[in-house]
Amino acid sequence: MRKKIVAGNWKMNKTLDEALALTSEVVNMIKDEVTGDVEVVLCVPSLYLTTLNKYVDNAAKVSLGAQNCHEKASGAFTGEISAPMLKSAGVPYVIIGHSERRQYFAETNVQLAAKVDIALENGLTPIFCCGESLDQRQNEDYIGFVKNQLTESLFHLSAEQLASVVIAYEPIWAIGTGLTASAEQAQEMHAALRAHLSEKYGQEVADGISILYGGSVGAANAAELFAGADVDGGLVGGASLKSRDFTEIVKARQ
Ligand code: 13P
Repeated sequence: MRKKIVAGNWKMNKTLDEALALTSEVVNMIKDEVTGDVEVVLCVPSLYLTTLNKYVDNAAKVSLGAQNCHEKASGAFTGEISAPMLKSAGVPYVIIGHSERRQYFAETNVQLAAKVDIALENGLTPIFCCGESLDQRQNEDYIGFVKNQLTESLFHLSAEQLASVVIAYEPIWAIGTGLTASAEQAQEMHAALRAHLSEKYGQEVADGISILYGGSVGAANAAELFAGADVDGGLVGGASLKSRDFTEIVKARQ
């Protein structure tokens, strides 16, 4: 059985006090209300990781992730954070290749392959993001485009390495827009990506990879989106900033 995962991506939001409050609220709500087998990951600003790790320690269901890491282990890269640093701080997950990193920081598929490598070398679970723009969806082979993102950033991995990767499909046109992909659109892409993994790694390996959907996931649409056979959970932006909404999304996946 694949892991069910709901991850919150806080992006560049919340002061320290707000982050502490939100984390304790989420941890308590999950502890009280979620009985099912679902992993919850809070991808918070890196500055807060060590502090917040103390809050999630005792709640086995909730763990932390970073939103990015550098592709080198150390060195003169002012302002960056490395995978060994995340490992040393006890952080289990890291988002790699979010579309905002691709767009605003010009991250390429080749660079992301190196980030995936260093994350895995340090025992971190990469949440590898992929997804097409609206223009690509309307005018191009959008499934081919997203499959190619996987090919270029993941297909150098061994089957054993790939087994430690989580994939998040986030159509760019659905991020922060309120324009969710329909459950059918999400399932179509997830199934296509799993088939693509299967062609390279075999069905058994492909069947073990959790593929999350991201893009305007909310309390009201989560259950419908998660009903897709290949939709194993969600990567949630805006709604992860509200403890009640986020908890309802987790409950929809359990
Ligand atoms: P929203 O849920 O705000 O659309 O953001 C999705 C996202 O980018 C998660 O990584």
